[in-house]
Amino acid sequence: MSVALVNGRVLRAEGFARDQCVLIEGGHILAVLPANDARCRAAETVDLGGGLLLPGFIDVQVNGGGGVLFNDAPTIESIRAIGAAHRRFGTTAFLPTLISADLEVVARAIAAVRGAIAAGVPGVLGIHIEGPFLNVARKGVHDPAKLRELDASALGLLTSLQDGRTLVTLAPEMTTPQLIQQLVAGGVVVSAGHTNASYAEIRAALAHGLTGFTHLFNAMSQLSGREPGTVGAALDDQRSWCGIIVDGAHTDPVVLRIALRCKPHNRFLLVTDAMPSVGTTQDWFELQGRRISVRGYSCVDEDGRLAGSNIDMASCVRNAVAMLGVSLPEAVRMASQVPAEFLGVSQEYGRIAAGQRANLVLADDELNVRETWIDGKSSRELNQAPPAGS
Ligand SMILES: [Zn+2]
Repeated sequence: MSVALVNGRVLRAEGFARDQCVLIEGGHILAVLPANDARCRAAETVDLGGGLLLPGFIDVQVNGGGGVLFNDAPTIESIRAIGAAHRRFGTTAFLPTLISADLEVVARAIAAVRGAIAAGVPGVLGIHIEGPFLNVARKGVHDPAKLRELDASALGLLTSLQDGRTLVTLAPEMTTPQLIQQLVAGGVVVSAGHTNASYAEIRAALAHGLTGFTHLFNAMSQLSGREPGTVGAALDDQRSWCGIIVDGAHTDPVVLRIALRCKPHNRFLLVTDAMPSVGTTQDWFELQGRRISVRGYSCVDEDGRLAGSNIDMASCVRNAVAMLGVSLPEAVRMASQVPAEFLGVSQEYGRIAAGQRANLVLADDELNVRETWIDGKSSRELNQAPPAGS
């Protein structure tokens, strides 16, 4: 039976459209039709009450949520709990993100993601492996004892997921352009982060398949008068993608507005870098034995260093409008279509159009999320689904 979502303001390529019905069946969008089309009237209808119908948000950097940190327990159940926490804020696809850990833990995390995808855990799209191939000089809150160079011995592990997307954040100076090329050839999306690379080193990596920059401006060599650094390379290159955390803390909004003038807006994707506190009221959590305090959107360690964020994707979209001055449709695209293109899954994800997965968000004008659909299943259904194995 098909379901017709009616009476919403539907975000299409040309902007918000009224009087359209989104017909979904079998987990996909069958068609977007005029509201009075006979096929819509024949379907089971869901009245959206005039709300905004948006493509589901895609978050490529999610360390945790719902009280769970992926690093602490890289398991299928952790992924399920993190997904459920972020679904409430419109995230319909995400990459559980593992920060620098021993390769044995990386292997367990990949196995958990593979298992979660096989078990149909809602929203899990693959894995983001952030480290351990990072530069200690730009470690941020990563444990320096875990950091190491990337050589050919880890290629098999990093390319082993196959069923989902794999994103690896690495410091290009901790490996060679040839290894980056081999990772990309193995289906991995490679992003530069926690790096002290020079402009020339980043250019070499870009020429060998690097396509992303992780949390632009944070934990990377900065733009300066005589050395453009990683930031300069990221802003100079018109094709690569930059992840940005619009929480008002990781990067000053002025700096992000300047960045947006350097390359096309469809090369910036919103990421949360979310920590376990998202979707809870907890005001602290533990990260690899250190106490992290939660203050507003920020998570900080005892030295005041940022440790991920306490922000959800709907708030990132809201902030992008308020702080960066982009339009709401554009901000939503930075959280849906752009990350889908970055990950190479835009055939099925990121837009409201025929043939796409029925991953959708219903929100009010203040971007409070009312309902979320993943593969055509509404959050009401998903929240009632029993956990696997019960
Ligand atoms: Zn990081």
